[in-house]
Amino acid sequence: MPRYAPVPFPEVKLEGQFWHERLDTVLARTVPSQHRKLGEYGILDSLKLPNPPPPLRFPRHANGFTVQVFWDSDVGKWIEAASYALAHRRDIDIENKIEAAIDDLEKAQAPDGYLNCWYLGREPEKRWTNLRDNHEMYNAGHLLEGAVAYFQVTGRRRFLDIMERYLDHIYATFGTGPGQRRGYDGHEEIELALMKLYYLTGERKHLDFATYLINERGQQPPHYFDWEREQREGSESKQPYVFANYEYSQSHKPVREQNKVVGHAVRAMYLYTAMADLAAELGDAALKRACEVLWDDVMKTKMYVTAGLGPSAHNEGFTHDYDLPNQTAYAETCASVALIFWAQRMLHLDLDGKYADILELAMFNGALSGLSRDGEHYFYANPLESDGTPTRWEWHTCPCCTMNVSRLVASVGQYFLSSAEDGVAFHLYGGIATDLEIAGTKVSLREVSTYPWSGDIRIHVDPETPAAFDVKLRIPGWSNGATASVNGETIPTGSAERGYLTLRRQWQKGDVIALDLPMPPVRLYAHPGVIMDAGRVALKRGPLVYCLEEVDNPGGRVQRLKLPRHALLKAETRSDLFDGIVTLTAEATSLEESEFAELYRTAPPREAPSTLTAIPYFLWANREQGSMMVWVPEAVAN
Ligand SMILES: [Zn+2]
Repeated sequence: MPRYAPVPFPEVKLEGQFWHERLDTVLARTVPSQHRKLGEYGILDSLKLPNPPPPLRFPRHANGFTVQVFWDSDVGKWIEAASYALAHRRDIDIENKIEAAIDDLEKAQAPDGYLNCWYLGREPEKRWTNLRDNHEMYNAGHLLEGAVAYFQVTGRRRFLDIMERYLDHIYATFGTGPGQRRGYDGHEEIELALMKLYYLTGERKHLDFATYLINERGQQPPHYFDWEREQREGSESKQPYVFANYEYSQSHKPVREQNKVVGHAVRAMYLYTAMADLAAELGDAALKRACEVLWDDVMKTKMYVTAGLGPSAHNEGFTHDYDLPNQTAYAETCASVALIFWAQRMLHLDLDGKYADILELAMFNGALSGLSRDGEHYFYANPLESDGTPTRWEWHTCPCCTMNVSRLVASVGQYFLSSAEDGVAFHLYGGIATDLEIAGTKVSLREVSTYPWSGDIRIHVDPETPAAFDVKLRIPGWSNGATASVNGETIPTGSAERGYLTLRRQWQKGDVIALDLPMPPVRLYAHPGVIMDAGRVALKRGPLVYCLEEVDNPGGRVQRLKLPRHALLKAETRSDLFDGIVTLTAEATSLEESEFAELYRTAPPREAPSTLTAIPYFLWANREQGSMMVWVPEAVAN
């Protein structure tokens, strides 16, 4: 077991304005509106077996696939998000809605435990015939995560019992024993869900099956998906496999041999999350090494500055190194959410601030951009540049991202800190309170700040009785010139190791730690291999990446603006925008469009002095529609 483990979300009270506001929105608006949408789209009706299934709402593609095969997962994710919400505020109406869905699932479950409403309702004879495409274990994984969350919050076992019956069926069907199939799902997810169930129950069989799935993935010959296709379609395949390669599902080779991040981004992140969980739990050095190699690959060549992942819509995933187009960036919300899961597991495999840095980057940028301020509109793709065309969706034919972002926000407390027997580690800041048992005494901890707007942080440490333990403070990789003190006495921050400053002392009631993380606005430059960002600069302050939006920069599309290399970047608190944010402004130049009559000409366009205003990227597309860009063309004086 890792020495430091996350403090469970129900034990962390969010008091800071930033997350409190997001959480309130998710509780009051997102969770109820998502339930309405599940109803409107027929997803809740699809659970009501043995009613005959209604006509397909989303017809099958040429390859036989419809997004409806993973509707069960949407129900599981909604129950999970709603359960997290209940931990903050009990709500009888939400609880009744969850119970009604569980009633339906209980009635739908087959006598042998099988539970997949698509197959049970439409083609029961075809169950377990297409793990490559049809998400049966993926659906089971999301239902299981929902069942675990609901049990953790309410103590009610019924959903968990349903899922354990289903898992017993799965464990009997798949494995390396005689008469078992050596299958695993094309879309990873159940692996990390099984680890949650294992942590909850301590039952070895769940850990064993997760280990089996991870070990079996990519083994060949024969490749399970080839064997399965032959069983399904005969040796002459009639249905083309759209992706034509197993990199798409990270099943091209055994996971310990994988050294490049490939394929569908969300699948990859869910897989690596489970690999890191297992590496920690089993003490598996080869698995840990694979996680580290894959981590380095994505960080060095494949991640957007916003922590978005997967540039391509074609495979919803990765392409080649440094391929990070801005306007066509896919950067699915789910992928950034899943990166947070992976980063958190890496952090507990090896307490290194570099993982928390990415967890934070994804949280404040690539993931949070997926949810609107009003809590009822979403982005599936999160481009870094826009001509003004994209707008947020009320829902999506494939609503995976909607509930991924709501379950993240509703459970955000679990990412703030970790505890060990003799210490506590702060990873994120933003105003939280919690009571923990450390070094045999109850310790109240209260972190007060207006993070991410300011890096001025106070932590009140109040043990019931004086006790010696570690308080580890993350010094973010982006920070420069951090200072710290305890009860006014300066602590040199140069002693920070791998991103954490460790304060070990006899703590007593009334102790106060002050941590100051200066947040000057900075320019970021991309590796020249990222051709789309050549000659451009991104703006960042603290953990927040900024963008220019047309509404703050009137006069035409923001692409007309250039930022001089040495122009001063000013941070300005704006209480009139989004209930108070910090904007960045600078003197800029603006290309004159109006006097340029031709499509091409030999004389350059005129440039006029201008100013530019940038807002945090996660807030874009919440006001009037217009152009946006993260990577701003830079003007370099000769
Ligand atoms: Zn998604």
